[in-house]
Amino acid sequence: MIRHDILIVGNGLAGLAAALSADPKLSTAVISKVHPLRSHSVAAQGGVNAPLGNSPAGRDDSPERHAYDTVKGGDFLADQDAAELMCREAVPTIIELEHLGVPFSRFPGGVIAQRPFGGAGFPRTCYAADRTGQVMLHTLFEQALKRNVKLYNEFMVTKLVLKNGRCCGVVAYAYDRGEFVPIRARAVVFAVGGYGRLYLRTTNAYTTLGSGIGLAFQAGLPLKDMEFIQFHPTSLYGKNILISEAARGEGGYLVNCRGKRFMADYAPQAMELAPRDIVARAIQTEIDRGRGFEGEYVHLDLTHLGRDKILKRLPAIREICIKFAGLDPVETPIPIQPAQHYSMGGIDVGNDCATGVPGVFAAGECSCVSVHGANRLGGNSLLETVVFGKIAGRSASLYARGAGAGPAGAEKALQDGLRKVEKQVEGWEKRTEGVPIHHLLQRMKVLMTAKAGVFRDRKNLREAVDGVLQMRRDYGRVIRTGRNRRYSQEIVNIFEFEHSLELAEAITRGALHREETRGSHFRTDFPKRDDKKWLKHTLAYLRNGKVELGSKKVRFTKYKPEERKY
Ligand SMILES: Cc1cc2nc3c(=O)[nH]c(=O)nc-3n(C[C@H](O)[C@H](O)[C@H](O)COP(=O)(O)OP(=O)(O)OC[C@H]3O[C@@H](n4cnc5c(N)ncnc54)[C@H](O)[C@@H]3O)c2cc1C
Repeated sequence: MIRHDILIVGNGLAGLAAALSADPKLSTAVISKVHPLRSHSVAAQGGVNAPLGNSPAGRDDSPERHAYDTVKGGDFLADQDAAELMCREAVPTIIELEHLGVPFSRFPGGVIAQRPFGGAGFPRTCYAADRTGQVMLHTLFEQALKRNVKLYNEFMVTKLVLKNGRCCGVVAYAYDRGEFVPIRARAVVFAVGGYGRLYLRTTNAYTTLGSGIGLAFQAGLPLKDMEFIQFHPTSLYGKNILISEAARGEGGYLVNCRGKRFMADYAPQAMELAPRDIVARAIQTEIDRGRGFEGEYVHLDLTHLGRDKILKRLPAIREICIKFAGLDPVETPIPIQPAQHYSMGGIDVGNDCATGVPGVFAAGECSCVSVHGANRLGGNSLLETVVFGKIAGRSASLYARGAGAGPAGAEKALQDGLRKVEKQVEGWEKRTEGVPIHHLLQRMKVLMTAKAGVFRDRKNLREAVDGVLQMRRDYGRVIRTGRNRRYSQEIVNIFEFEHSLELAEAITRGALHREETRGSHFRTDFPKRDDKKWLKHTLAYLRNGKVELGSKKVRFTKYKPEERKY
């Protein structure tokens, strides 16, 4: 049996940051469905926040101002000590990344350049043109290679195995062998990213179906604030490839079919740089009220920025527009529409990234610390992955050093887990009639997009919950049409779907339950924030196959809830 002290699931920024901070005396491995440079982190464009104060307009910036903007942007649902921790760590983290070799863009004079981003009081977002995630991921990957971190690429974890409530390890599908393997680990760190592909319109990579979060939920770990899903205001119409907030940070305008910069009606001061939830709703409202183009999109106009600025600051955006929309943003406005982008909720963890299960940790987008509250500010997610990835690596090391041999019977539990997974696959293969997986996946995407999108209400959310429950029943009839088990996308898809079923139920039930509007969660039937009743986190538990909801207090330090005005 493969054995490690620490197994990190996911090799995006959070996973690699965890691997690099793990105790080098321990045996640490990173396992992922894809090669590290194909994790979704590679797609991050706009930048990463830190109050360096390098911009002339940012001289008064500080960790406190960053924390305040983060808490306010999150509509006061963030745990304030967690947000403060992240913002305190931001400057040293950027300096460390720079020393590791991240080639950040520069201002004349040589200091790291910073651009304005939505909901931020100062230009605070450090960047490498519009390829920030790519350069950060390449740098951390190089460091992982340098330190000989063991990488299992093209392995999908299909089960988290616990014994007596403690971590034993995982069972994983090895693509190249077409086999399932148990992996013993004293500590497991989930760094499995988000679940954008549960939606039809998403900026996320094909790998982000939430399977990692779902299998943690199935193993009994509670999820927090799953109803809070970020819809990015500006995805390329039709393709939904992200057009980074950097385009507005650099001065882009949002314009409706009447030629009006309509953000004046929604956020007169911040205009295009209001937080994402506000801008996404403004765009959707314009489209719904007939002020969009072809009833589907509005324009993001960069033409006034000039060719030089676009080529220097937004080269990848320009390339995306030319390749995927056949237009050059130097000359033509970009058609854009909102799309699912980010998950504020996730596996419930404390500031040390520990879950309630001894030996299991989580960091990055899949976790909910919570630093983003009800709405994440652009540039804060990359920061979270590195800051909390590092903390998770340290916490897991501390645990693994003290865990001794782990729970008695761990290896037998893993073998039992393996047999269960194999039986499951045999079950799909034995069936001669039933539903092919792509039908179910497509139904899920359509349902989530139509019923749990930017605007929500009781009727639609009820239908969403019922639809998910129906799919849980239909999943019982899933069939595998192929027989080859090597590199089987069908096996991957069936597991992805199975893991995302209860996850989708947690999202939709949470959204139905929360009868208020806060951050990204907009209820047309409860359009006001209600601090008296709802200033609390939602917790979702899976008990005897049923999703149940509870709540948890929000932790406050010094920021009093106030109305968000921009
Ligand atoms: C297009 C785009 C642009 C963005 N731009 C920015 C930006 O400019 N600034 C910012 O702050 N944020 C940005 N974000 C958000 C940010 O990039 C992500 O939240 C962050 O990179 C997530 O990192 P992660 O390490 O948590 O997960 P990911 O990078 O998504 O990695 C998840 C990993 O988990 C693995 N995995 C999942 N399930 C399993 C399983 N069952 N078994 C094995 N492996 C599994 C995957 O293979 C992958 O390796 C952007 C997001 C998108 C989609």
